[in-house]
Amino acid sequence: MEDQRRAELIARQGMTIAIDGPAGSGKSTISKKLARALGIGYLDTGAMYRALTWFALSEGIDLADQTAVAAAAEQMPLVMHSDPDDPHYVVGDTEVTTAIREPRISESVSVVATNLPVRHWMAREQRRRMLEARAQGSGMIAEGRDITTVVCPDADVRILLLADPAARLERRTRELYGDIAPEHLETTRKQVEDRDAKDSTVSEFLEPAPGVCVVDSSTLTIQGVVDAVLALVDASLEERAQRS
Ligand code: C5P
Repeated sequence: MEDQRRAELIARQGMTIAIDGPAGSGKSTISKKLARALGIGYLDTGAMYRALTWFALSEGIDLADQTAVAAAAEQMPLVMHSDPDDPHYVVGDTEVTTAIREPRISESVSVVATNLPVRHWMAREQRRRMLEARAQGSGMIAEGRDITTVVCPDADVRILLLADPAARLERRTRELYGDIAPEHLETTRKQVEDRDAKDSTVSEFLEPAPGVCVVDSSTLTIQGVVDAVLALVDASLEERAQRS
């Protein structure tokens, strides 16, 4: 579809895109590129769980105290700047964009993410942001673990992004260390396997829910994945245009 027609249809109909997948599947790279190409917002839901983990720790809250962490979610003064070219996150007066990627947060985030009252708060908040953007004649692409199933099962386009374990491990290691030296691969393997195991106790992100399209990024280039999703976006836009 021509860029101009796509932009017109998005302005008229709005567009929500939900992308789920495990660590290292390429969700954030792909989502940022798509948001940029489509001129819609980008929501990194993992960053919200990370920011809450950072906030609770900085407030001295015991992460195992589920009630206290859920209360902290309600009070967290989080501002998300979701420009895909420069996403950044501020809690109160503190810029936390880099701090939320530190190992101490990656190691603790699953405790926060397996807190069910926190998940309910997150889902409500994330859904609100997506639907508001859609209603404003724009849209949002949100990536995470439960976006296609819980947060926005009615999204216009729903994708499960998968990659084989070796490809995921290499990607995550490069992100963290800038290389794939054997010792870095080994450290990252432990972290990723640990986190996936904990996360999979509260959300299913390796099997597609009914109606969710699987895109396997193991053998595709980044542009190849972007093009595959764009084809689904175009199909959704055309189908809705014909119905209206
Ligand atoms: O995507 P990212 O690795 O930044 O996510 C950090 C953590 O946030 C995940 O390991 C998971 O515990 C949690 N998460 C989640 N549901 C989402 C997004 C992230 O539970 N939708």
